[in-house]
Amino acid sequence: MKIFCIGRNYSEHAKELGNAVPENPVVFSKPDTALLKNGEPFYLPEFSQDVHHEIELVIRINKVGKNIQEKFAANYFNELGLGVDFTARDLQAQLKSKGLPWELAKGFDGSAPIGDFFSIEGLDLNNINFGLQKNGDWVQQGNTKDMIFSFAQIISFISKYFTLKVGDLIYTGTPAGVSAVAIGDKLVGFVEDKQMIAFEVK
Ligand code: ZN
Repeated sequence: MKIFCIGRNYSEHAKELGNAVPENPVVFSKPDTALLKNGEPFYLPEFSQDVHHEIELVIRINKVGKNIQEKFAANYFNELGLGVDFTARDLQAQLKSKGLPWELAKGFDGSAPIGDFFSIEGLDLNNINFGLQKNGDWVQQGNTKDMIFSFAQIISFISKYFTLKVGDLIYTGTPAGVSAVAIGDKLVGFVEDKQMIAFEVK
């Protein structure tokens, strides 16, 4: 299976990192060894002093597709999950400054915790509230109405380049409020008022 992520998909987050709002989705991928399931703890890697949480809604593809038109994108997923796109911000800044790929800063082991999935049947995909609490305090709160690229636009764009297969995951971008995590932090993510992911930083 493949894991794709969309960068800079919420303009307030693009602004907080000093990035321009993109014309096309910013796409990168993580290997399957990045996945962290079932509330397993996240171990801070020793190569970074500044690992940031990015809470994101995650599409799970349920049908093989290539060159999917936006108007048909809804046929390729029926569930969303909640995950965290951990980012070694210090390493990413170094790589960006040299024009190098982000993989080392974004795709390391455990950098993609994933929580429970939920059916999207009957949901308004353009009005889903989600967020992250760190040690009981809200640090990120977003709503899908603020996405720059919709779920359908993302699926259509990625499938021009990559055949999407059943089980592939797409992390769809993070709202503002990213910050560093430390050993002992407890992260809990919510969709509306439902807890969907919870784990500890070790
Ligand atoms: Zn992200």
